[in-house]
Amino acid sequence: MKKILVSQCLYGDKPVRYDGKTKEERDPRFIRWKEENRLIPVCPEVDGGLPVPRTDAQRIGDQVITRDGRDVTKEYRRGAEIALERALQEEVLCAVLKEKSPSCGSNKVYDGTFEGNLIDGQGITVQLLREAGVRVYSEEELDLVEQMVTGRENIILTGMPACGKSVTGVVLAKSLQMNFLDTDLLIQEAAEKSLQEIINEDGMEAFKSLEEQVLCGVSASHTVIATGGSAVYYPKAMEHLKKLGRIVYIQVSVETILQRLNNITTRGVAMSKDQGIRELYEERRPLYETYAEVTVGSGSGSMEDTVADIIDKVSRLRQSFR
Ligand code: SF4
Repeated sequence: MKKILVSQCLYGDKPVRYDGKTKEERDPRFIRWKEENRLIPVCPEVDGGLPVPRTDAQRIGDQVITRDGRDVTKEYRRGAEIALERALQEEVLCAVLKEKSPSCGSNKVYDGTFEGNLIDGQGITVQLLREAGVRVYSEEELDLVEQMVTGRENIILTGMPACGKSVTGVVLAKSLQMNFLDTDLLIQEAAEKSLQEIINEDGMEAFKSLEEQVLCGVSASHTVIATGGSAVYYPKAMEHLKKLGRIVYIQVSVETILQRLNNITTRGVAMSKDQGIRELYEERRPLYETYAEVTVGSGSGSMEDTVADIIDKVSRLRQSFR
């Protein structure tokens, strides 16, 4: 059974927080994982050599500074390294860490003023875990963790326009008895007009801003999600999608794209006026590769081959993480 790295203060059993308390998580799913012995508790601050209780600290850039002005970055880094070592040793499925902490916060942290202001950001331990490829969730995202535990996570398709994300996605969803969602349709629904009309009437920047907003708001379970070709331009949205499921890149050659796209100017594609398909392809390809957990080829084989390839590779990926 695959383990989950968790913050000791969420796990309970011993007080490790700066104020000498715990924040024991009482969600029934968390309790079940604990009873299954799936959870591996760590407290990076205590493991890094800090006492309980201790002066509270906040992240300021790459440093962590206590309320009374002491630099404790070294202790925080040490604790983060111990947590990472543990995560890799145990080949954890993911980590569930306490939100807002300068070590364990995964979406929000305090801004360093000690005035209670939260900003988008992550703690030192979360940063290190993510850089090593470990998925990190907060205690507010247990739905997503449960999807991973039960193998009901989403499959997210990325790739160039005309690579076949939507058509492949429908067949894939049918084959796996999953739901299907096309984010281009969500954008059209939000704007009440076609993608091309949004670009023509509101401009490219407005289109991109809407697309990012829609992608960041996607919520789904056991669903194949076909994204627009420009999804990879938005790091925040891609981080969100990565949390939702497994990212699959459908790779096709630029020649195939050129054959399939008769007139790109009518398809609502996010590209500048002086850009051709080849330039667009070269610009986006490294981004698709960066985010992909699974890459499949499409173009030479049949669509059924592509679907079978996705099912095989995603299932092998899940096995290795179960
Ligand atoms: S470092 Fe993490 S585990 Fe330790 S008290 Fe802070 S939030 Fe909890």
